Amino acid sequence: MRSVHAIAADQVFDGDNVHRHTAVLIEEDSIVALVPVSEVPAAVTLSTLPAGAWLAPGFIDVQVNGGGDVLFNDTPTPSGLARIVAAHRRFGTTGLLATLISDSHQKMRTALDAVHGAGPSAGVLGIHFEGPFLSRERPGVHDPAMIRTPSAEDLALLMSSHTTTLVTLAPEVVPPGFIAQLTACGIRVALGHSMATYDQTRFALSQGLTGFTHLFNAMRPLESREPGPIAAALEAEDAFFGMIVDGAHVHPAMLRLALRGKAKPLLVTDAMPPVGGSQETFTLFGQAIKREGSSCIRADGRLAGSALDMACAVHNCVAMLDVPLTCALRYASTQVANFLGLGDRFGRLKPGYRADMVAFHAPAMRVIATWVAGRTSAGAAD
Ligand SMILES: [Zn+2]
Repeated sequence: MRSVHAIAADQVFDGDNVHRHTAVLIEEDSIVALVPVSEVPAAVTLSTLPAGAWLAPGFIDVQVNGGGDVLFNDTPTPSGLARIVAAHRRFGTTGLLATLISDSHQKMRTALDAVHGAGPSAGVLGIHFEGPFLSRERPGVHDPAMIRTPSAEDLALLMSSHTTTLVTLAPEVVPPGFIAQLTACGIRVALGHSMATYDQTRFALSQGLTGFTHLFNAMRPLESREPGPIAAALEAEDAFFGMIVDGAHVHPAMLRLALRGKAKPLLVTDAMPPVGGSQETFTLFGQAIKREGSSCIRADGRLAGSALDMACAVHNCVAMLDVPLTCALRYASTQVANFLGLGDRFGRLKPGYRADMVAFHAPAMRVIATWVAGRTSAGAAD
């Protein structure tokens, strides 16, 4: 028991159940046991969180474009990633997918190299290529000049990844068989920035597509005679959909409707550089973007990602969508790990899982501390 230490909290949520007055025993980077505080062996160093605190699986965010005044597209380097990770960790995120907005093949290669160089113990669990294989009818704030169909080099690059990889694409613009080629080598594929019909979406699901990126935004809307991707998503019980719960991207009533479907929700931030940063403006593809509250807005009024953080997303999920806290915590971690195929190692506080944890005070979701691979960083968000 020499290297074992323990963290105790009044409420420990393990991803399934809440345990009162419980300690999580950690050895090196992993959880070895959950025990009542009174049963922690005397030889184990015990740290007890403040009265009323919660301990839960650390948040996992699959859509992080930036943070700490860094935009991943502009700084696709290990040091850029380190700043982004540190910015989000203050708000409870212990694992993220560095998200590259549609960009050149060379930039995609550089970004992948940076993620390979960072390694999972740094809090970067992988990479999310949001584009560039998107619909020209639904670019959002992506640079239309970057949007293209995949080349043989693009396919080879994606298949060379040896980290967790998510690709957001428009199924109707990629060649037949492309989705199946990606999913066959373990890449997660999500629909986004797409004008796919209901039938096209159903076919993409049959090819291995399992995700929907920021459901409702930048996709064909629900219509009576052409239900499109939204209806197809909500009928698919094996699918996952990202929700940006900031009160701006989607009306809460639409998200409450989505929660009544069969697909599994994930909380994402779609975060931009202002999260955990100090500057109110940044530049995206040469256009000025201004932070206003938790929104990031281009001069033409279009939303450009968000300034949301995961603690705030969990808080909003409870406050705006009437979701119990434990469900919101699952949407922010357990379910995300399952989506990424990492559910046997991440997203739960159970023996054998990596000790990635967040301690916080509810209901304000004020983060007290986080642990990544068993190592703490007590940087509280204020
Ligand atoms: Zn997007």
